[in-house]
Amino acid sequence: MEQEREKIEEKIKQTNQFNSKSSMTIPVVFHVLYNTSAQNISDAQIMSQLDVLNEDFNRINSDAFTTPTDFAAIVASMQINFCLAKRTPNGTPTTGIIRQQTNTSSFALYDTSVHYNILGGSNAWDTRKYLNIWISNISGGILGWAQFPAAGNINTDGVVIDYRHFGTIGTAISPYDLGRTLTHEIGHYFNLFHIWGDNNCGNDWVNDTPIQEEANFGCKTHPHISCSNSGDMFMNFMDYTNDACMNSFTIGQRNRVWNSISMYRSDLLTSDGCIPVIPSTSDAGIIEIVNPISNMSGCSNPIYPKVIIKNYSADNLYTSVVKYSVNSSSDHYQYWSGDLSQNETDTLLLSGIAIGGTSHIINVELIQPNNQADINISNNSESKLFSTEIGTSVNVNIITDNYANETSWILMENNGIIIDSGDSLENNTEYNFNYCLEDRCYKFVINDSQGDGICCNYGNGNYSIIKELNNQVIVTANQFTFSDTLYFCNTALSISETIINNNLIYPNPSVGIFFINNSYFSNDIPIFAKLFDLSSKQLFSEEIKNTSTLNLTNLESGMYILKLEQNNIITTYKVLIDKQ
Ligand SMILES: [Zn+2]
Repeated sequence: MEQEREKIEEKIKQTNQFNSKSSMTIPVVFHVLYNTSAQNISDAQIMSQLDVLNEDFNRINSDAFTTPTDFAAIVASMQINFCLAKRTPNGTPTTGIIRQQTNTSSFALYDTSVHYNILGGSNAWDTRKYLNIWISNISGGILGWAQFPAAGNINTDGVVIDYRHFGTIGTAISPYDLGRTLTHEIGHYFNLFHIWGDNNCGNDWVNDTPIQEEANFGCKTHPHISCSNSGDMFMNFMDYTNDACMNSFTIGQRNRVWNSISMYRSDLLTSDGCIPVIPSTSDAGIIEIVNPISNMSGCSNPIYPKVIIKNYSADNLYTSVVKYSVNSSSDHYQYWSGDLSQNETDTLLLSGIAIGGTSHIINVELIQPNNQADINISNNSESKLFSTEIGTSVNVNIITDNYANETSWILMENNGIIIDSGDSLENNTEYNFNYCLEDRCYKFVINDSQGDGICCNYGNGNYSIIKELNNQVIVTANQFTFSDTLYFCNTALSISETIINNNLIYPNPSVGIFFINNSYFSNDIPIFAKLFDLSSKQLFSEEIKNTSTLNLTNLESGMYILKLEQNNIITTYKVLIDKQ
């Protein structure tokens, strides 16, 4: 146990991100839990306590000068400020004070029901981002207790304090009526132990505090010697003396607190708990969906929406987010930035979106104007019905060689119906032909009348079929002699990770027997093969050992997806079985 403690303490010592010595501000929320109206202490009493914390933790307390000069070299300011929360964890404005009546007449020491609404307490606000302080009636003469860092349930983290030992006015009762109980408990919350180490001449894990025999009560006169020290530091906030007789933390305690905040409670420093909520004045919206028009003649996949947005607010609009969807597609988002004064508009072209079918509805909404809530949501959205042809926009890309007059090409459906063809091409020229293709299988055939292809002896030609949306290359090749045929199916166009490489699986298409080019795989490590149909239904899964053959002759003609896995790397192929 003790060894474990040493290790943790060593770690705390080494963790120090606050060398800059800049001050920190901790957001605080007070939970006033009252059973009688007298326990419902005033805002003024809470503010008196907050003032004490800000004085004690910055060593600007009016009694700091009473610290004996023997300790002048070790006393320190914690440089920690406490602010009353100005926003709730949900981002709504707050006073930082929660008042909650309870049927519980008093809470015993360490009674965790104080932390839960349903048990007569008050639920903590996110304890990583707020210091939660519960003020209640504690039984048994207990002044309060605190949870050490990383020492318990996240929902009970914070400090519980008796309403009679809180603040400097109202219900505060002498001798614990100067707010020092909370200073002491927050010392624990930041990982400080009692100055006597809770043992006879014990260890508080702080080097500069004198070793002392036991807790001091009431008020003492310096030097009050114990454990052969030069005097107990009974005026330390981590002793048990009266509020009027304590006034100091030390450099060692400060370093321990800073390191503990860095190690355990750093979220407090980035919390927005004390940043006021500024009411939104932003009002922006969509005034028109320009595209798609109601009766498009183009392809359904992709659709490129175009909308006009407008700033209705007297404040300029600098940023916003366009949220849009077609039919039941998932929501797409596009960020807009610019500068629109009141009633100005801007036209936006949105990223393409893939849909199927012919009858559609598009929904567009403008949200988060200037990263705020929109104060008038009635003008934020527009919808439109439209219709299209069925199909996917596909580009055929051909780059010719030095003898383009030898080249000709045909794009056809698998059943032989010709969609388009071309010849009389220019040398060393890039051609792009766009087609709206329905969900079927297709062939692209390219010929060279002289049998030298279009690459790579007399120029560097190549040819690809590219899905327009996201520029996905479906098939591509460059070398052939007299003729080459590329097969592709539109139904599979959405499988984005698909790799086509005729060298890896060959021949492709095949009547059913495929060969795997072993040079692409490590020797002696099994390859796991899985085959899927185009609806992603798995047809088989097997381990390929000591063979490079895949027998798919029992399957019908058509396109399949083959996944080969080795060393956790999966490569995906389209394979075409053609038994005709
Ligand atoms: Zn204590």
